[in-house]
Order: sequence, then C-alpha cells, then structure tokens
Amino acid sequence: MCQIIAINRGEIEITSPEEFNKYFGFLPIKEEGYNEMTLDCCLCQCDLNKTFKDKKIKYWFDKIDTYFVGELDKLDKS
Ligand SMILES: [Zn+2]
Repeated sequence: MCQIIAINRGEIEITSPEEFNKYFGFLPIKEEGYNEMTLDCCLCQCDLNKTFKDKKIKYWFDKIDTYFVGELDKLDKS
C-alpha cells in the first residue's frame, strides 16, 4: 500500500510529490535508496517523517499508510 497524506481528515488527499509541492509549496525529502524522485509517482519515494519534522509541520501517522496533516485535534486516533 502506498503512503498518502490526508489534509484535514481527508478533505484533500496527496499521493504524489507533484501534488505535495502544489499544496505545501516545496518538494518532500527523498527516501534513502531512491536515486531520483519522479514527481508524478507515488509518495513511497519520499521520507515524509523527515520532511514534516524538517519543516516543523505537525502530523499524525496512522501506522498503516496515512499521514494526517491539518485538523489533528479532530481526528479519531484510536
Ligand atoms: Zn508507492
């Protein structure tokens, strides 16, 4: 399963570096082991943990495949 980013509980879903760039205004950090990033491919090539920490963006990972950004206080984190 590919990793995705859900903004505000899924109001917007980001599935590629290109979409990431459009939303956040910068490209995510490349995952080690990938030579280059293909912008219209999936986010598995990106180290999203590192990217969000680097940019001090609050997120919550559901430990499956989704990184939630935005309205984290309204999430059901059970
Ligand atoms: Zn993938």
